Amino acid sequence: MSEGGIVNIAGIKYDSVVDGLGMRVVVFFQGCPHRCSGCHNPENIPFEGGNKMTVSELFDKIMIGINPLTRGVTFSGGEPFAQPEGLYEIVKKLKDYDKSINIWVYTGYDFEEVKSFPVMKLIDILVDGRFIEVKKDISLPFRGSKNQRLIDVPSSLDLGKVVEIKVS
Ligand code: SF4
Repeated sequence: MSEGGIVNIAGIKYDSVVDGLGMRVVVFFQGCPHRCSGCHNPENIPFEGGNKMTVSELFDKIMIGINPLTRGVTFSGGEPFAQPEGLYEIVKKLKDYDKSINIWVYTGYDFEEVKSFPVMKLIDILVDGRFIEVKKDISLPFRGSKNQRLIDVPSSLDLGKVVEIKVS
């Protein structure tokens, strides 16, 4: 859990084209409670370790990578929703700065489990669900197993049901 504006981050990747549509900055949260077998980022599972920083410090690091070509930020893990206050604060700060910044969040929770979190009103796309090794499919864009969904969050909240986006 984050404490008063502090987030624990495993790392940041700039200029990614594999963590969502378009060029993106990717922020990896440290710590994940799901412990999926075959996890692609096992070093990000322990809640110990990582780099603790303020939300303002994280914002500055993200902004290094934001430019006319890179307008997206992806939060991955680890489990971003395990630090709900920090996740909310950094996404709010980005949207307050420029609401056109496109936000994707990867979570091991299902949409139905996190839909009432305040940050959901600020997220554009949620990639949901645990990684399930027997459902692994490397042909799927932007996700690892077939159970995971690319969810249009604003439409899903408006309609009260999950609306998936199609990416081929
Ligand atoms: S939810 Fe993601 S980060 Fe967490 S254990 Fe599963 S695959 Fe790894």
